Amino acid sequence: MAEMPEEVARRYRTVGQQLSAAVAAAGRPPDSVLLLAVSKRQPVESLAAAYAAGARDFGENYVQEALGKVDQLPLDARWHLIGHLQSNKAKRAAEAFHCIHTLDRPSLAGALEKAVAERRGRLQVLLQVNVAGEESKSGTTPEGAESLARRMAEWPHLWLRGLMTIPPYLTDPEQVRPHFRALRALRDRLAALALPGLEMTELSMGMSHDFPVAVQEGATIVRVGTALFGERP
Ligand SMILES: *Cc1c(COP(=O)(O)O)cnc(C)c1O
Repeated sequence: MAEMPEEVARRYRTVGQQLSAAVAAAGRPPDSVLLLAVSKRQPVESLAAAYAAGARDFGENYVQEALGKVDQLPLDARWHLIGHLQSNKAKRAAEAFHCIHTLDRPSLAGALEKAVAERRGRLQVLLQVNVAGEESKSGTTPEGAESLARRMAEWPHLWLRGLMTIPPYLTDPEQVRPHFRALRALRDRLAALALPGLEMTELSMGMSHDFPVAVQEGATIVRVGTALFGERP
């Protein structure tokens, strides 16, 4: 069952307070972490309730599902793709999304570049890194991320902003911490290469149960679904 709109608003405020508290406790500036509302499989009424409560950034896993929601929210909502992207959907993804968190291979970068080159502007992207080396997960290796970062000049319409990871699901957030730390270390290492045109400021990491730990480890975007919207229908 989807949550009632008042319940989504209440949860949005609670998560916002928890995030602010985590940011302050980490000694980081207020507003240094973006709360991305992960709305996959949630009805558009729940997204509208989160929007009314202040949410502007929404994370979706599937291009098709997101396209069905984009037109139903105000124009200033921003859409982030956080699920695996097939190259044959790159064109539609490039049109709908403000940021793609799951760039993990040169062929996909090429498909996105082609799609964005046909229109104005640049598309923000993050490199998805499988820091734990899990067989079942998409994302590139740390070496693959470095190779992609070094090749970004080949795709001038893509604006590389940083890294994203989906660590193993471990109920104890302390056990996830090393994976967050590894992503941050990789981000710092790639930033130190000072490759032209790369900013490497963003770290998309942390979900409902472990975002406070991710904030301690330097997350700049936390992706929160269940804590905001309740269990997915
Ligand atoms: C579903 C999902 C989330 C949100 O997970 P919750 O545990 O519901 O907060 C975050 N990131 C990705 C990549 C997801 O697929």
